[in-house]
Amino acid sequence: MAERNIQTLVCSSCKDKNYHYQAGKKRADKVKVEVKKFCPKCKKHTLHKEAKS
Ligand SMILES: [Zn+2]
Repeated sequence: MAERNIQTLVCSSCKDKNYHYQAGKKRADKVKVEVKKFCPKCKKHTLHKEAKS
């Protein structure tokens, strides 16, 4: 079974799940992901944080 590691980026303003990305095979990065991305709901760039599903 292939191990999938799909991460979700949630808008910190409206809590919308806007982005998904596949984390690397190595689980070395325990760093919290915080990126500024465009949120369609907020209609502006907001801080997106990694969410655990
Ligand atoms: Zn938003």
